[in-house]
Amino acid sequence: MNAQLSPVPQDALSSFLAPAQQLLIDGQWVAALSGETFDVINPATGEVFARAAAADAADIDLAVQAARRALESGAWARMPAAGRRNLMWKLAEAIEAHADEIATLESLDNGMPFAMARGIAGMGAPETLRYYAGWAGKINGETPTVSAPDHHVYTLREPIGVVGAITPWNVPFAMEVQKIAPAIAAGCTVVLKPAELTPLTAVRLGQLIQEVGFPPGVINIVTGFGDPAGKALVAHPDVDKISFTGSTLVGKSILAAAAGNLKRVSLELGGKSPVIVFPDADLERATQAAAEGIFRNAGQICVAGSRLYVHKDVFDRVVDGVVDRASKLKVGVGLALDTQMGPLISQKQLDRVSGYISSGSHEGAQVVIGGERIEGQGYFMQPTVLAQTNRSMRVVREEIFGPVVCAMPIDDADLERIARIANDTDYGLSSSIWTRDISVAHKLARRIKAGTVRINGGIGLDSALPFGGYKQSGWGRENGREGIEAYTETKTVSVAL
Ligand code: NAP
Ligand code: MG
Repeated sequence: MNAQLSPVPQDALSSFLAPAQQLLIDGQWVAALSGETFDVINPATGEVFARAAAADAADIDLAVQAARRALESGAWARMPAAGRRNLMWKLAEAIEAHADEIATLESLDNGMPFAMARGIAGMGAPETLRYYAGWAGKINGETPTVSAPDHHVYTLREPIGVVGAITPWNVPFAMEVQKIAPAIAAGCTVVLKPAELTPLTAVRLGQLIQEVGFPPGVINIVTGFGDPAGKALVAHPDVDKISFTGSTLVGKSILAAAAGNLKRVSLELGGKSPVIVFPDADLERATQAAAEGIFRNAGQICVAGSRLYVHKDVFDRVVDGVVDRASKLKVGVGLALDTQMGPLISQKQLDRVSGYISSGSHEGAQVVIGGERIEGQGYFMQPTVLAQTNRSMRVVREEIFGPVVCAMPIDDADLERIARIANDTDYGLSSSIWTRDISVAHKLARRIKAGTVRINGGIGLDSALPFGGYKQSGWGRENGREGIEAYTETKTVSVAL
């Protein structure tokens, strides 16, 4: 489809894929102390195509110690900001230079369409690094005005310390870079535990980190399972902060486990984001965006617009439009360039999504299109639109994390009522409003309890825009100034003159 897209042939990757991957600890590639490895699976085929090291608590401890040494030695935090910035730029350039390869690995490991993976490796991730490289020399304290005379007071923003970063499988490379970039720009050191289902691009990132010359221990990459590796990182007494992206359930367990040393915690969790379409909207664009918003990455996106509320006067037109797009969506292997939607990540996820659709059907939902897994190899699911759904159904209340949208009509112009419907969820990550009435759009934006409100398609994600959740969608914000301040402690210094 796109002549500029060129995945790397898989045999050209064999020198990377053939040996079992190792852990990057203290600037060295090492096997797990236990010698254990685990299978890396291509979700488009169900086949094992690589192996990764399975770290446990002992490996995590070595990685944390290395990060602690890199922090305390001053090799990173006390490096002039320009030095940190320059290394981050070099890493951005190295990622760009290897974008085809990283995107190929990501598409094989996660299943996402190559174009999406290429966009992240070639543009999104380098941009994140450069954006935060720019902040490295611009983290300032303040000089507050105090009530006592003859005192000089100032604040410092210091790196929080050793950061444990834990990431999910849905958009692996983007998430890994999004965690590392602000942390290292702030002068922190990092132990990253990527998702077990998608370890490969984190390992490749580690190789590039080595190549561009980061001091040992500044970024450690430790693949393995949530239990024991993730758990050990969260519980480790020498970790100062956990930055976690994943499910709300695991997020809650992390809060409890972090209590041991009261480490700081940032959480980016699930969502059940509403899309609200008024009759005066540009219906063509709204329909296109509603379809993309739920089918992109097979719905495995935390901000997926999974509750579609359309005014009754245009309900049929919009839903028919989404159904039409679903029917034409090319579902297939991520590396085939005409693929628009890849597989789900695993058999477990396929069963989970199918289970939700059955549950919806039992509760009276109508499957307008899709609803079935696609027979054959790999974990493919049809793009699915459910109608006749209501607020009490599990498909409307719970995050499905698959290509399944629940369409529901709204029937009045009372914004308070529409806001109550939009807010009728435990989550509060994102939301979309489609209307040409600017007053309606902004009034509703203020009433929706979500970290992001997109009006008429507005920007979803950008390094400069704070991103995160209200309610059970998380704690704190990533990106923007808040995203880097989350990796700092404020120190107040006061002097009697
Ligand atoms: P998950 O099961 O919560 O896993 C996320 C990460 O945590 C993985 O690396 C996982 O390791 C690890 N982990 C699991 N149990 C742990 C424990 N007890 N202690 C420490 N770490 C542990 O979520 P997922 O299934 O990978 O991802 C899907 C979920 O993530 C969805 O709910 C989605 O909404 C959410 N998500 C949110 C955002 C956001 O920005 N808000 C972005 C993407 C995804 P294993 O890989 O070994 O399980
Ligand atoms: Mg995989």
